[in-house]
Amino acid sequence: AKLNGKNQYSIYRTELDGEQAKQSEEMVKNLEQAIESDQIDVYYQPKIDAKTEDIAGFEALVRWQHPELGIISPGLFVPLAEQSGLIHKIGLLVIEKAARCLKAWQTRYELPLTMSINLSPIQLNDNRLIDRISYVINQTGIQAKYLDFEITESEKFKSVKDALVMFNRIVDMGCTLSIDDFGTGHSTLDYLRKIPAKTLKIDQVFVKNIGLSPDDEAILDATIDMAKRVGHFIVAEGVETESQRQYLSHKGCDYFQGYLFSRPLPATKIEDILDQRAQILKNY
Ligand code: C2E
Ligand code: MG
Ligand code: MG
Ligand code: MG
Repeated sequence: AKLNGKNQYSIYRTELDGEQAKQSEEMVKNLEQAIESDQIDVYYQPKIDAKTEDIAGFEALVRWQHPELGIISPGLFVPLAEQSGLIHKIGLLVIEKAARCLKAWQTRYELPLTMSINLSPIQLNDNRLIDRISYVINQTGIQAKYLDFEITESEKFKSVKDALVMFNRIVDMGCTLSIDDFGTGHSTLDYLRKIPAKTLKIDQVFVKNIGLSPDDEAILDATIDMAKRVGHFIVAEGVETESQRQYLSHKGCDYFQGYLFSRPLPATKIEDILDQRAQILKNY
């Protein structure tokens, strides 16, 4: 009976995997169509200067505007895009859209705004990425130093050595690098030593646990201290409350991102915010 049960289980598994495979095949087709029909959109979340509380720049966050399902978040389709290779196209779309928006905003508001763009480790496995970024820079007329690329350490790199070569090429172009989600996943201290990054982004988990977990607070404090001592800027992600802001500000964080200041918004809504800001300054 035992053996039988095991067999049944494995048959069930195979059917389930088959069903799942079909579903994700279907999703890949949908995603391909979404790219062709311009359903891939970019939202922008303001990055706030901790000292002035003014907008210093943005993080570009991809969205899938599905005609029936509405907005689909990257957590749901980026993994699929990575598996299928569509991430190369999507990633390039994000870079193009974000750079074009940034150039328009810098010009209209006369501000040295920056744009941070997430790179998937899969994108870094393709050498052509560098030429594509360089093409976008030339096309949009943006200065490379305003483009920042957010990277994570990952098991998805074909080789860490090759990834490091790519990181250096990005920096050689004049762009900057940020280490995203620091303190979770695969980020290690060795990574911090080797990557030519300017900024370290502290993961939301640690921000969430301010005042809740003394252990996480200790890790947070030590991370900020270490990052400062190796000369990195620090961005805190997921800042939702005033007490979190105060804590992080007191510890010396340079920039904040989070719902306390703004959710990620479509470009038109960001323009409303920048218009308002300009209006306030004019009346001041
Ligand atoms: P991430 O790069 O760490 O981005 C931060 C995530 O935190 C975003 O989720 C953002 O909407 C969310 N967030 C910001 N402030 C708060 C807050 O105060 N509270 C909470 N609870 N959440 C906050 P989102 O947009 O769903 O993106 C999720 C992840 O998807 C990103 O994490 C990034 O890893 C990936 N992703 C997003 N856009 C792209 C892209 O263009 N390319 C690639 N390869 N990955 C992307
Ligand atoms: Mg990010
Ligand atoms: Mg992050
Ligand atoms: Mg994150």
